[in-house]
Amino acid sequence: MNPNPDTKSVGIIGGGQLAQMLAQSVHHLGIKCTVLDPNEHCCATNEIGQCAQIVASYDDHEALLKLAQTNDVVTYEFENVPGQGAALIAEHSTIHPNPKALSVSQDRLSERSMFTNLGIDVPPYKQIDSLEDLSAALESLGAPAILKARTLGYDGKGQVLISDPSKAQEAWNTLGGVPAILDGFIEFERELSIIATRAADGSIEYYPLSENIHRGGILRLTKAPARNIDDSVAQQARTAIESILKHFEYVGTLAVEYFQIGSGPSAKLLANEIAPRVHNTGHWTIEGAKTSQFENHMRAVLGMPLASADPIGHSAMINLIGNEPRPGALDAMPQAHIHLYGKEPRAGRKIGHITLNAPSESQLDAMLERFTRIVG
Ligand code: AMP
Repeated sequence: MNPNPDTKSVGIIGGGQLAQMLAQSVHHLGIKCTVLDPNEHCCATNEIGQCAQIVASYDDHEALLKLAQTNDVVTYEFENVPGQGAALIAEHSTIHPNPKALSVSQDRLSERSMFTNLGIDVPPYKQIDSLEDLSAALESLGAPAILKARTLGYDGKGQVLISDPSKAQEAWNTLGGVPAILDGFIEFERELSIIATRAADGSIEYYPLSENIHRGGILRLTKAPARNIDDSVAQQARTAIESILKHFEYVGTLAVEYFQIGSGPSAKLLANEIAPRVHNTGHWTIEGAKTSQFENHMRAVLGMPLASADPIGHSAMINLIGNEPRPGALDAMPQAHIHLYGKEPRAGRKIGHITLNAPSESQLDAMLERFTRIVG
């Protein structure tokens, strides 16, 4: 139990930038957060996140129970929370979102089955448990194709592009011979995602679809609301996320990532994966929506009413990967909202993001152009 009943408090498993932004989003509501993270220098405890911390590994059951016992509710900021720990908290206390969503998202095969069972279209794929399975799947799906480890993949890690069936053995070895799926290669128009938050009473706030540009498997740029979205596409995305939220009796913020194939009214969405948490493609909501994905997540898990997810103007979110802009570079762009997480810069590491927000698409484009000229 929360030792101070006058103050609402949330325990968060994981102390990275998502926990930092979750905590930051409710400073104005007086809500206190404690993170559980093995890294003593995690960024959720710095002056931005201001979280308290339990320094412990994610499978330390005693520490997880302490997190549950000293807070009103527990949530998590990343998918790879060990299932047993989440189940333990659920037994003794309250954890949101539902650990069932967590375990489905940890395994690409279960995730694809969940989509299919709910009538949501997915890329063609095959289950791969051996080199023989891989050779047979390449014959049926053709090349190029992408071999993806079923578990522990993120930001393009744990996957190998197979350009030619003769490379099956090499790809299998590169992945380490672990259980996998083989995805047919999708020549998509673009990548989109939808984020929504569901409260315990079943009410849902939907953010508009955003368009996402990845390079090297890592998200670089998100534009929101995504442009030229046909009503039928918006509806497909909403119907799909609604059925997933209901399926898990989900409480909190959820993201679904899609490939859009075709364009106009005949465009179709193929669901690639879910994230049962706040998501990088929703960082723009801090400035670009009436209520951010972070605040709505916290409202949901604490049993508070949700607030409007309506967009404000047009936004672009640029991830800062590896290093930050040189000091003063953005002094002449007061409209650029810079978020530095306080992490040590390192190649390939997300150390912050910048959000540009403008009243119209053309003004946003002009800002983006200027930003690219200044920062490169
Ligand atoms: P994932 O880890 O599944 O999100 O994949 C990372 C990125 O790889 C995606 O955002 C896409 O840009 C690309 N990708 C993944 N799966 C496919 C696919 N089946 N066809 C084409 N590109 C893909």
